[in-house]
Amino acid sequence: MRIQFSKIPFLYCFVRIKYFFSHFCRVFGIISYIDMCKKFIPFAHAQSIYEVPVDFYQKNGVSLLLVDLDNTLDSYRRHEPTEQAINILAEIKKTGVEPVIVSNNREDRVKHYADGAGVDCLFSAHKPFSKRIRKFLEKKGVSADKVMLVGDQLMTDVLAARGAHIRVLLTEKLVKEDQWTTHINRLLDRPIRRHLRKKGKLPDWRTKYGQI
Ligand SMILES: [Mg+2]
Repeated sequence: MRIQFSKIPFLYCFVRIKYFFSHFCRVFGIISYIDMCKKFIPFAHAQSIYEVPVDFYQKNGVSLLLVDLDNTLDSYRRHEPTEQAINILAEIKKTGVEPVIVSNNREDRVKHYADGAGVDCLFSAHKPFSKRIRKFLEKKGVSADKVMLVGDQLMTDVLAARGAHIRVLLTEKLVKEDQWTTHINRLLDRPIRRHLRKKGKLPDWRTKYGQI
């Protein structure tokens, strides 16, 4: 293709603007929409934690499994763990993987639920920040590559996992009802999830089954 001489100033301006924009973004720590979406790509996606076979984690080299509570294991209205939740956590334990409930919810709610399910917990986890999770992993003495987080929210679970450099299994919400604070996150979650799905960036858990 021959570039017309008259188009050169236009191309020059375009390149300069593009350069200026990327430089500006880098300097001020602004990330583009495309870069932002990349941050939300999970290791795998499932409809719910209950459809994933319990040996999935062990087959993927996981020794510590961080599980979100509200709308991942149970509805936020449930104070006692369901039979289904108790069973799946017990079955995961049997495979040699330690499940730990990691939730932003209050100590009384999370501890009571975790005690009922017979597992350890990290309450007030401050997701999407990863500091509490990183400290918890340090205390446990587990390296990040042996940890996976299961959660239903891009804005909290996936971002926190990214910050802690751990893999994340993203699920859909278990029940329709959400806490009022979660409604805001869902407004942001929905279009990004739609974008990732359209681009084929939500890999089904079956594609990672058995891969280490
Ligand atoms: Mg949740």
